[in-house]
Amino acid sequence: MLLPLPAEKIPIQEISINKNVKLFIKREDVIHPQISGNKYWKLFFNINNYLAKNPEKPYIITFGGAFSNHISAVSALGNLAKIPTLGIIRGEELKNKWRDNPTLLFSKRNGMNLQFVTREEYRHKEKLTEFLQKEFPDALIVPEGGTNEDAIEGVKMMLNDETKDFDYLCTAVGTGGTIAGISKFCEENQKVIGFKAVDDDSLENKILELTSKKNFNLIDSTFGGYGKIKDENIRFINDFKENYGIPFEPIYTGKMMQKIFELIDDGYFPENSKILCFHTGGLQGIEGANLLLEKQNRNLII
Ligand SMILES: *Cc1c(COP(=O)(O)O)cnc(C)c1O
Repeated sequence: MLLPLPAEKIPIQEISINKNVKLFIKREDVIHPQISGNKYWKLFFNINNYLAKNPEKPYIITFGGAFSNHISAVSALGNLAKIPTLGIIRGEELKNKWRDNPTLLFSKRNGMNLQFVTREEYRHKEKLTEFLQKEFPDALIVPEGGTNEDAIEGVKMMLNDETKDFDYLCTAVGTGGTIAGISKFCEENQKVIGFKAVDDDSLENKILELTSKKNFNLIDSTFGGYGKIKDENIRFINDFKENYGIPFEPIYTGKMMQKIFELIDDGYFPENSKILCFHTGGLQGIEGANLLLEKQNRNLII
């Protein structure tokens, strides 16, 4: 199998916070150096099932923004398996500037063919998908963020006997695939909290299309908007790394953990709650974020 099950158990680390709840992090970020965190699991069945069908000319097409962890992961996968990949990238203005973007440069170096489309075209990516599937009937077309039915099955692999022991399961939310999988496959008594990195009112309904369980809550954790980075976010991420040795990126996981700290301080969780957060990876995004911060003469993520 191209994407194997990890040889060792994914570690769960306790974070000593001296509060009346217990906080743990499951380090899905350490699964693979380039196909990281939830993106590994979301691609797991997509790619393994696809290759098991022995397509004559394997080809992977997918979608994403300029800093997308998913684009980065798919390009690495293509490179690993010697499968050609095409990334449809949001933002035509990047056409001549992709070299300045570490994610796009990495993807290109992995052999990914990048096709830049306008935001308007990107919004109609379902149409584009239909067109491409006709054009390349043998291709695997993975939607934005990797979210589809196969992805949900993959997310199931993030849960095991150890994760059953927790009252709360927490994850950052982008397209909603990860939280949908957690919601669908966790235990009946477990509560799921999704920390929204994106301000999107339709998220709840999108998630409910993939899980029929209403065991999750969505909490705004955009801190001013998707992809926006505030000084307090940088400070939090750097302090956390210094105190606990665990790195976060500033788009999803850093904001999630900062919000969890706020909730703990506000007494949101009942006493003695056991909280498990999934570290969904994406650390490749730090480099691109730091380039932007540097241009703005701001503190960097260490
Ligand atoms: C993509 C991503 C998410 C969001 O996952 P969804 O399944 O799209 O909700 C969360 N964290 C990181 C680090 C990601 O790269």
